[in-house]
Amino acid sequence: MKILITGGAGYIGSHTIIEILENTDWEVISVDNYANSSEATYKRIKEITNKQFQYYNVDLKDVEATKKVFEANPDISGIIHFAAFKAVPESVAKPLTYYDNNINSLINILSCQKEFNVPNLIFSSSCSVYGNVNELPVTEETLLEKAESPYAYTKQIGERIVDDFIIVNNNYKAISLRYFNPVGAHKSGLNGELPLTTPNNLVPYITQTAIGKLKQLTIFGGDYPTADGTCIRDYIHVSDIASAHVLALQKLIENKDFQNHNIINLGTGKGVSVLEAVKAFEKVSGKKLNYVIGKRREGDVQAIYANNQKAQQLLGWKPIYNIEDMMLSAWKWEQNLQNNL
Ligand code: UDP
Repeated sequence: MKILITGGAGYIGSHTIIEILENTDWEVISVDNYANSSEATYKRIKEITNKQFQYYNVDLKDVEATKKVFEANPDISGIIHFAAFKAVPESVAKPLTYYDNNINSLINILSCQKEFNVPNLIFSSSCSVYGNVNELPVTEETLLEKAESPYAYTKQIGERIVDDFIIVNNNYKAISLRYFNPVGAHKSGLNGELPLTTPNNLVPYITQTAIGKLKQLTIFGGDYPTADGTCIRDYIHVSDIASAHVLALQKLIENKDFQNHNIINLGTGKGVSVLEAVKAFEKVSGKKLNYVIGKRREGDVQAIYANNQKAQQLLGWKPIYNIEDMMLSAWKWEQNLQNNL
């Protein structure tokens, strides 16, 4: 069975390819244009899994080039569509770039799905679709507030596009997975997040500070009305996110009764504060992190974490890694990156 992974050289895409190659007999075809990733990631996947797969350098905004991948592989059974831009501050600065890339590539993938009759789709969504919610933990029924950034809005629109597409093509099935805060690296430490510029996200910022690439971590705000004054997030190991994709696609393929478009949260269900995350890193690495508590970051929500019952019930999924596993694997990866440079 052939599975098309878009954005397969990216952070979550590459971990999902590893999970597929290690746990299924599916054939992987990856498409990426390396806009925010590197072809070298494929070498790492092959080292970890000792398996082969096909890959194409294609920009999904180019519908003709995208079609060629389907023409060369007319028997694809499922698509996992990761490929998208994902940096919130960048999306605020370059909204048109984000709308153009994230929306047009989704439309092109769906038109190919229809033209080449691919029955199953998994769409990468994000907890940012919830906006500033008043109710915690968030369930899939929690009403979506205004998207706080163009990035978040591309995910709200993306889910809606999938919804509308599936309504009129009801022989197809889709699942949108709303990721909370994916962090960490493969347990081997041989594959992980590869920020091409200074990271915005907490965990790569922590590991780069600890290794000396960055001077100091600033914790954005210590005066929130939380137990220790810092913001709360639901950090989830990237390999747990990856395993959920395999289960989701298996469900779509096997389960004929599955609803046409399901939306499912992927989080641990546990809120962790920024200070707790820093402490977990210090514990597993044995290193004291150089950090200061600074001003709040604009646009940050105080606290968000998932209710993950639906993922557990529908997919039979349970996250297995805790915050210390996440930090340890991210730290291993950062050290490996340093040694290979
Ligand atoms: N954060 C921080 N310092 C940093 C980066 C992030 O204190 O250099 C905090 C941020 O304010 C938020 C949490 O870490 O409370 C997670 O931020 P991240 O950007 O990783 O994910 P977000 O939840 O904002 O998408």
